[in-house]
Amino acid sequence: MSAAPKPIPQPEVKLTGVFINNKWQESSSGETFETINPTTGQVITRVAKGNAEDVNRAVDAARAAFHRKSPWRTMDASHRGRLLNRLADLMERDANYIASLETLDNGKPFAMSYGVDVPYSVDVLRYYAGWADKNHGKTIPVNGNFLGFTRHEAVGVCGQIIPWNFPLLMWAWKIGPALATGNTVVLKPAEQTPLTALYAAELCKEAGFPDGVVNIVPGFGDAGAAIANHEGVDKVAFTGSTEVGKLIQQAAVLLCWYPGFVHRNIYDKFIEKSVQRALKRVIGNPFDMKTEQGPQIDQEQLDRIMGYIEVGKKEGANLAVGGKRVGNKGYFVEPTIFTDVDDNMTIAREEIFGPVQQIMKFDSLDEVIDRANDSNYGLAAAVYSNNINTINTITQALQSGVVWVNTYNTILPQTPFGGYKMSGIGRELGEYGLEAYTQVKTSIIAVPHKMS
Ligand code: ADP
Repeated sequence: MSAAPKPIPQPEVKLTGVFINNKWQESSSGETFETINPTTGQVITRVAKGNAEDVNRAVDAARAAFHRKSPWRTMDASHRGRLLNRLADLMERDANYIASLETLDNGKPFAMSYGVDVPYSVDVLRYYAGWADKNHGKTIPVNGNFLGFTRHEAVGVCGQIIPWNFPLLMWAWKIGPALATGNTVVLKPAEQTPLTALYAAELCKEAGFPDGVVNIVPGFGDAGAAIANHEGVDKVAFTGSTEVGKLIQQAAVLLCWYPGFVHRNIYDKFIEKSVQRALKRVIGNPFDMKTEQGPQIDQEQLDRIMGYIEVGKKEGANLAVGGKRVGNKGYFVEPTIFTDVDDNMTIAREEIFGPVQQIMKFDSLDEVIDRANDSNYGLAAAVYSNNINTINTITQALQSGVVWVNTYNTILPQTPFGGYKMSGIGRELGEYGLEAYTQVKTSIIAVPHKMS
């Protein structure tokens, strides 16, 4: 982190329009919406409010860019990879500005935007750049006088809808594999955090992606629904809440984490240390490099988290530390720990998405596996142990798309990420992440003389 430059505390917002065909436009209705700085609760700027009509235009542009004779469809696959690498270069060039913009719009500490969000986005783009000319089919020894082979072809126009928790990173996770495999894209950033997605669109243009390959429509759920329901969209990728994911019913990846289980023998000590850690946690201005925890994303989320804390207390969990809003400017919540949490309590079963930890006690491995699996969700889990048998048992038994061992939140471009059960359909990242963006075409060609 020491290498991080000084952030730009008031980054100039340059791009607030709808991005279609490599051009910036107003929304078709002329309407705009406010994007709020969660640190202060003040308006940063107004952004074009895309609606169904804007989605139509974006899809038309993306369809045209996917025409079989278009520059994009006739480009060498390796060149697609070069464009993605160029985009990654541009992101690195502007890393300080982009990270500052992310912190302004999302409120996450600059140390994180600069140290995680931007470089991880760059990594994902570079990873998929490498795949562009390597995701190939097979030649298959078939019966009869035929030559049989497969090609991995682009799906077409991809509608992509992303949330506010990792605005740039989710953008890169969606755009990277889609473009590497030759698709075109209509993406809607979250209404809370549209700014970095829009800036990155301009970088796509600068990198040289042809007109219509990347289109960005900022807006609300209605614009998202228009993307999801559009006949001209061949595939929808969505990251966000279960409720909306169910509405869309396509490739969904949600971000739900397990609550913490701690063995009875170390429970009290663990709580004591956790409370000490929570009390020491530096909350405040996310542009300050010492800040560990910024604000929550908006008033709605703040209210939701405070609501969950009340429910936790009401249902009988013990509030060990925190539980209050910090100040009355911006959307800050104290690091909060609940102990004596029962498996059936709301705070154990629903995702709070805030600085609230629920710590539960367990006695045996079998018991904790059953309790952890008794959930509708299953995105990611982590186990801390030095016992190889415990580790092997639990990594196999947990119904979770990812199991980390003695590490946490380790998400890498090379390994697939996605959830079991209601936490998702499909996988992103890694070679598996290519599957969602390609379809297999079989070719069978009669040959006059077969050589088996
Ligand atoms: P979160 O709780 O992470 O904000 P949401 O599911 O509400 O999750 O939002 C994730 C993304 O889905 C945002 O870009 C949002 O605008 C979009 N969205 C919300 N409602 C719909 C909908 N009905 N159809 C498609 N997209 C939607």
